[in-house]
Amino acid sequence: MPESSTPAIEQNTFETQRTETEENEDLLSSLERDPGLRIPMWDYPYEKRDQIRRAYLKLKPYQPILKSFSFSGPDSHRRRFQSSWYKKFPDWLEYSPSQDAAFCLLCYLFSNKPNPNTKTFTMVGFSNWKKVNDGNNCPFITHVGGSPCSAHNNSVRAKLDLLNDRGHIRHALIAQGEEQIKRNRLRLRTSIDVVRLLTLQSCPLRGHDESETSENQGNFLEFRKAFARYNDEVSKAIENPDYNAKYVASSIQKEILQIISAKVRNHIREEIGESKFCIIVDEARDEARREQMAIVLRFVDKNGSIRERFLQLVRVNDTSATTLKRELCLVLKEHNLLVENIHGQGYDGASNMRGEWNGLQALFLADCPYAYYVHCFAHRLQLALVAASKEVSSVHQFFSNLNFIINTINSSPKRHDELQARKTAEIEDLLLSGQLETGRGANQIGTLKRAGDTRWASHLQSIHSSGEFSLVSTGARPPQRFSHNTKRILTFNIKIL
Ligand SMILES: [Zn+2]
Repeated sequence: MPESSTPAIEQNTFETQRTETEENEDLLSSLERDPGLRIPMWDYPYEKRDQIRRAYLKLKPYQPILKSFSFSGPDSHRRRFQSSWYKKFPDWLEYSPSQDAAFCLLCYLFSNKPNPNTKTFTMVGFSNWKKVNDGNNCPFITHVGGSPCSAHNNSVRAKLDLLNDRGHIRHALIAQGEEQIKRNRLRLRTSIDVVRLLTLQSCPLRGHDESETSENQGNFLEFRKAFARYNDEVSKAIENPDYNAKYVASSIQKEILQIISAKVRNHIREEIGESKFCIIVDEARDEARREQMAIVLRFVDKNGSIRERFLQLVRVNDTSATTLKRELCLVLKEHNLLVENIHGQGYDGASNMRGEWNGLQALFLADCPYAYYVHCFAHRLQLALVAASKEVSSVHQFFSNLNFIINTINSSPKRHDELQARKTAEIEDLLLSGQLETGRGANQIGTLKRAGDTRWASHLQSIHSSGEFSLVSTGARPPQRFSHNTKRILTFNIKIL
């Protein structure tokens, strides 16, 4: 395609140029030269007038030098037009042989409506020749006028504006406007990129103190500044913002985030298409202790691959099944997803979700008979493992004691510091004796982690973190550096382990 398009464009350009030249030539040849026979400028279509004016200006004023100009006036004192007058007013004075009268080219060209002040030199024609030699009362001089705002001088300025169109205020404004639009766009693009980057890295946007005097204005503003340091154009756009177009307000940041999230959701919606889908829902409380419902959709895309997409996090007032269903239906409706197309539901085993009569799954099943409920396998595995581990007394006792030790240490910053100091000393000893090697990221001291009741994997993490501090090694004795009380508790538990 590119090979064939280039000549086509060139040909088109050539054709356009040829047509324009031809049009101009046609226009020049069609213009009436005799000012007494011309049609008024306002009879031409508005959009054509500038082109006609330029053509007339190119032709220059019509100043024929006739062998004999017609005589007029009384027989005793006959007068006629003098071609020497052209030299006095070379830019505008014209003579009409048909009317035997003088005209002003400029006033003719730049009159957009009948004007009584210029009527004599544009429409009627001046032929009272005897007045021409009347000193300052010469009608040619009075036509020009002494004031810069005389009708004729306005025409002169209009001519200069037309010929110097590029310097016209309109063009200056357009050029300035384009520059401003470019700067504003760059500023907005920088804000969008920063928001996108921070969101991708799960970093907060705002700072505690975003004032001009703040040493750290928060991630969003600091990242913008960092971008500006590496690019002069961005720097110029950011450092000289227009008053109302800084694009840094928190409302702008939120708007950008909303637009990005809407785009992601639209993409997910396109992926789903007309497919059937499953809903996976779980509730959680955020830091502010507000109930949130996370909605995940599982479906087969048009390539036949199974996709699981996190769609939305919805704030809910309570976790009753009816509230959850209402909110879910609103989200599905918002994305034009039909409840009848739900072919599966996956929740945890809480009664409000799995309840056979009033649980969320039962409510959806009433609307859609294929919305089979599956108790989330991750939750089930979790429950099975916790239940099974409690049946084995040694395992149960192990984790109970491990939790007790971790609680004992973590509940007191003093004990925690003692343990950290001991671990540091131990690593130093091992490094000195050559039993440990140094390296990037190696030998870091972590913190003790409790095993959670709802996440089986946390049991392993708990053992790992405890192992780092040698709390689960057999036969270990609490080190001498621990305080008496801590030593007593640890000795008791280590014996059990
Ligand atoms: Zn004039």
